[in-house]
Amino acid sequence: ATQFKIDGLKAAIDGKEILKGLSLEIKGGEVHAIMGPNGTGKSTLASSLMGHPKYEVTGGEVTLNGEDVLEMAVDERARAGLFLAMQYPSEISGVTNSDFLRSAINARREEGKEISLIKFIRLMEGKMKELEMNPEFMHRYLNEGFSGGEKKRNEILQMMMLDPSIVILDEIDSGLDIDALKIVANGVNAMRSEDRGFLIITHYQRLLDYIKPDFVHVMMQGRIVKSGGPELAERLESEGYDWVKEELGIVD
Ligand code: ADP
Ligand code: MG
Ligand code: MG
Repeated sequence: ATQFKIDGLKAAIDGKEILKGLSLEIKGGEVHAIMGPNGTGKSTLASSLMGHPKYEVTGGEVTLNGEDVLEMAVDERARAGLFLAMQYPSEISGVTNSDFLRSAINARREEGKEISLIKFIRLMEGKMKELEMNPEFMHRYLNEGFSGGEKKRNEILQMMMLDPSIVILDEIDSGLDIDALKIVANGVNAMRSEDRGFLIITHYQRLLDYIKPDFVHVMMQGRIVKSGGPELAERLESEGYDWVKEELGIVD
């Protein structure tokens, strides 16, 4: 069974500590949401977990099924089953969407067991249909000239194709209109399973109307300061974050 453990994680950007000892445990089958004000370190958490070179991990431990994630290179983390949909996906010119995905899938397979071209195309076409994506996106350069909403759908397409065991979605809802949001949420919900865990980072409660979390965590100043169930997200939506600060005596 999938088990992802973050224990006392600290990370810095340009020498400034942003994550100040963050702990969280995600098991297969669970959907966790992290909500928090802007600038509190949510994207820093996502990027640090994926091994982005700009973020220096200065303390703590992260394990996936007992294996030390922080020791792994970026591609090893992906191969181990971690998937991150970024808040701002990068554009890669000269690499088509289908080339990128096929090599990403094959990187997770043993040599000699690569996915056949026919099988790959069938799989990709099927998933693109589910996401109501235009088939031409298969041959477009990765994210180049994609609108915000198209990039988000493309991130979900990658998730569906790669079949990861831990999925981290960083503000997958930003820039989506309500129809696109529903399509993206349906894609995520279809991927929920007993051996996959989700960490959904969002600024707004709206996404959680469509992807029902089991646990909601409030992040402030580089830490998780409060955890609860879906009702916590609803209270944050109606009352904002001030009551959490007051309750915990947080001054900013
Ligand atoms: P959130 O995702 O919660 O809005 P971020 O993780 O993006 O927060 O940012 C946390 C803090 O780190 C902010 O103070 C932000 O200004 C700073 N920060 C984020 N990315 C960078 C960067 N690339 N260079 C310098 N500072 C950064
Ligand atoms: Mg932000
Ligand atoms: Mg962010």
